[in-house]
Amino acid sequence: MIADSTAPIAQPLVKSPRLWMPKRVVFTPDALNEPFGQAIYERISALNLPIEVAKGNRITGLRGADERETYRIAKNTLAIVNAPPSAFRLQPIPPSADWQMNLAEGCPAHCQYCYLAGSLAGPPVVRAYANLPNMLAHTATYEGTYPPNKSWQGTEAGRPTTFEVSCYTDVLGIEHLTGSLAECIRYYGSREMGQLRFVTKYDHVDSLLNLSHNGQTRARFSLNADQIARRLEGGTASVEARLQAMRKLALPKELGGGGYPIGLVIAPIMPIPDWREHYTALLDRIANVLDFGPIDMNVEFISHRFTPGSKDILLQWYPNTSLEMDEANRAEKRNKFGGTKYVYRPEEMKEMKAFFYAEWARRFPNAPILYWT
Ligand code: SF4
Repeated sequence: MIADSTAPIAQPLVKSPRLWMPKRVVFTPDALNEPFGQAIYERISALNLPIEVAKGNRITGLRGADERETYRIAKNTLAIVNAPPSAFRLQPIPPSADWQMNLAEGCPAHCQYCYLAGSLAGPPVVRAYANLPNMLAHTATYEGTYPPNKSWQGTEAGRPTTFEVSCYTDVLGIEHLTGSLAECIRYYGSREMGQLRFVTKYDHVDSLLNLSHNGQTRARFSLNADQIARRLEGGTASVEARLQAMRKLALPKELGGGGYPIGLVIAPIMPIPDWREHYTALLDRIANVLDFGPIDMNVEFISHRFTPGSKDILLQWYPNTSLEMDEANRAEKRNKFGGTKYVYRPEEMKEMKAFFYAEWARRFPNAPILYWT
């Protein structure tokens, strides 16, 4: 039953971030030769941002005197470039999707636990790809293919192949500048065997509401306890603003919404003092906001982790951070390539996982839990 779904939801803490306006926008000559690069150029010109065209296809002038300054310069720079040929060889990204297809790398937000620290080479400048339409067309060759993963349990045959576009950026945080997410949503809206996944901590979703997604895009929102988001997720929309945006995208089209399948990524989960109360408040608020049904929704739970490399970079970017990264409080885990990561201790993990599984199932029995990690 659809119950009073057009009634406004109480909005006590809605705070949208200002749209990111980079101080420097640089196009490479190759990017400007692409029709989609031209479209981005026009969008950015209309916003009256100063535009440079680089002499060659390398972007220079991104280094400051130290890591902090390099960070500041890079986080104020948008480069429009062509993705290199290696970006056309897609990497598996189970269990959240089959393949990752990056429409950009680098992110305008300032999360003090940022997943990009240590995984992107060089200064954290935002690079958006002008040859995106070619990359999208190329993903057709991956449709019907599924990287091996035990969580599929043989269910893959015949289902659409899923493509994740937000592994290295926040796609909605740069959408007003590039239009790349809309391009992807429209493309997969025309595919039967390819589906899109994206995730965001922003809330500017109005430009997505009327796109022909045909149910082929799952719009996911990264959410956390309010205390954690306020303290550690600089430059993003408040949790309440994200919830309102999620509601807009999930509402059926006939009720003025986007009619998208949605997903929640609760991450990074941290056992802060009184964590049960804080996360109960979040889960209750999610249930209040999604007061209509039925909703095509699932959830992913990701606990906080760090590596020696990411800790090192994060402490250079955010020297005064209050993020807990004490190896003595963690369990060490080795990956198959010999790298180390620090996760919560097994007993803490078990307790948190049991809490989230029980509390989720109690509120949302029809919304599958994809995994806990
Ligand atoms: Fe990093 Fe994601 Fe935060 Fe962007 S939104 S700063 S990619 S953690």
